[in-house]
Amino acid sequence: MADAEAWRLTPAPEEFLRVNSPLIETEPVPQCSVCGNSEFTEFAVGFDYELLTCRNAWRFVRCSICRHVWLNPRPAVKTLPVIYPPTYYAYNYGKINPVARNAKEWLDRRKIQKIIDVHQGSLRTYLDIGCGDGRFLRALEKLGVPRSGLYGLELDQSVVNQLHESGYPHVFCERVEDCSSIPEGSLDLVTMFHVIEHVDDPAAVVRQIYGWLSPGGTFALETPNVDSLDARLFQPTYWGGYHIPRHWHLFAPDTIARLLTDNGFEVVATAFQTGHSFWMYSLHHLVRYGHGSHPRAGQWFDPMKSLFGLAGFTAFDLLRSRFGAKTSAMLVLGRKSMG
Ligand SMILES: [Zn+2]
Repeated sequence: MADAEAWRLTPAPEEFLRVNSPLIETEPVPQCSVCGNSEFTEFAVGFDYELLTCRNAWRFVRCSICRHVWLNPRPAVKTLPVIYPPTYYAYNYGKINPVARNAKEWLDRRKIQKIIDVHQGSLRTYLDIGCGDGRFLRALEKLGVPRSGLYGLELDQSVVNQLHESGYPHVFCERVEDCSSIPEGSLDLVTMFHVIEHVDDPAAVVRQIYGWLSPGGTFALETPNVDSLDARLFQPTYWGGYHIPRHWHLFAPDTIARLLTDNGFEVVATAFQTGHSFWMYSLHHLVRYGHGSHPRAGQWFDPMKSLFGLAGFTAFDLLRSRFGAKTSAMLVLGRKSMG
């Protein structure tokens, strides 16, 4: 017991003590949410290297049966406002460099095209979960989905209000699990980019989406791939895909496929996207915390600030994925049966 719990004694980097990050309440998560087993081994231990919201040491564990990776223990529900501070959302939608924005738009178009290529049948209704400023709603509108068929879910009320004002009425400030605003069997396409790793019960989310889809409908989700080169290189603590303590589930191609098929879907494609921001955060964390404390040096690898690094790693991952490498961001497409 003593040995298995040694991770709790990992000292926080000195910077966390200097900014007085609090120790927050946690809750155990003893069961694998992919296969239900409760035997696991330690996988990684780390801290909130990005935002320093708390000084807890956090542990990822790996299921001994299906190899799914999850955060255990994880932040107690009442601490969510601590680990998602108000600046978290502004930080995501914050102004980014115009060159980076163009590159991002190009990558978005590429991703949408991949999804459209796989989708079969009509495309009159679309839901984006975690729709942010609505950029994917607009992209699908341009491709012919009528505005009356566009749906969005987003947890930031101010962003939802903005979308209502710009004429998108079916955007709701609700969690997937609690949402009752979307009729069963009504959606042709659902996308969920970088959301499932944040939820407490991924299987419940997948089941809810399955219910919303029309027969033959497509579900496209993107999530970090824990079975990638950068995840392996930085596995012990610094991998950017951990996003500690906000990522609660880390999938690999086989575990995400199992989650989908166990909940009714047929997996029709898995494509690997560029994981440039994970590369950059991994290096950021290593440089900033690896040998003493170097907050300024870390800025060179902050994906929000370093255009050079962003371009380099995007190119690197595009090249690798062309040769079949499994990068750290995977796009998985599931189909609901026709019957
Ligand atoms: Zn499992």
